[in-house]
Amino acid sequence: MQTKLAVQFRKSRTTVTAFERLKLCKRCGAYSVLFDNSCKSCGARDKFIPVTEYASALNRILPWAEAFGAIALVLLAVVFADTLAQMAAAAAGGAVLLFLLFLLRKTYKPYAESNRLHKLLVDHTPEILRGLRADLQEALEDMEADKPKEAYEKLREIGHFLRGDSIKARKVVCLNRFFIRKDMDLELEQLIPASFSEPFVLYLWEAVKVNKRLVRRGVLDYVLAYRYHIASMPHGKDILALIAGAAVRMKSYVKMYPYFIVDYLDELPKERFHRLCMLMAATPAEERTILYDKCKELARSRYGFDPDFQNMF
Ligand SMILES: [Zn+2]
Repeated sequence: MQTKLAVQFRKSRTTVTAFERLKLCKRCGAYSVLFDNSCKSCGARDKFIPVTEYASALNRILPWAEAFGAIALVLLAVVFADTLAQMAAAAAGGAVLLFLLFLLRKTYKPYAESNRLHKLLVDHTPEILRGLRADLQEALEDMEADKPKEAYEKLREIGHFLRGDSIKARKVVCLNRFFIRKDMDLELEQLIPASFSEPFVLYLWEAVKVNKRLVRRGVLDYVLAYRYHIASMPHGKDILALIAGAAVRMKSYVKMYPYFIVDYLDELPKERFHRLCMLMAATPAEERTILYDKCKELARSRYGFDPDFQNMF
């Protein structure tokens, strides 16, 4: 068995949308989402700019190009006019055209700018994919070179765009090499695979041990779908009990998964069971399920003399 590593992840920046993480090389146009400042494609250093900045530059340049084009048209009309009257008409028509252009630009500026970014991303999709594949190749080389921390940090960035099971599985392989601590910025729901995966469940166990908040609906649905696979794993029952205990955190989960939680009542630590009993006691009579009766029964038989459980039901 490989020894686990104590690691500190590099901070990953938070963005509203994934595409804000994209950067492109000003020299060759190659894309990347990694932190390295040198371009893998052309070797240039410090030539990357965020794609949003690139689109903003286009937004500054293109309207001027449009305006110069319109002015050139007006000047041509004036120059080729045969008479003074035609010249005056061309100049007046040109002035109206320029004014309309100015008004239209002012009204539609925000739409034009977001449309330009959208079009840029669509037009550059092949280059973006090529860049992501090159980034992925780098992460895989790190894995082969036994550098799981570096590989994971790269996969985490790439994972904002490529969300397939193979990326998730590779992230899990890396994560299972680390000591998982509470202070780590951990992901869980984003790693849920499409089918049963023992390495994922082992990571889930370690992650939920340090942070119960990682258990959300997607995780609960996965655990329920594969509960018999999980039960057959070493420590399977402990894993399921841990997840049931974490589900008690939210009233809505208790309401949604009562038949799962009821199976692990005996294994719940006192603090988790106490919280569940508080929720049950506050449940209106018409919404009570078997979970209510079992909690009441266990509270009496196991904690009958415990002051924390007195007069609860
Ligand atoms: Zn380049």
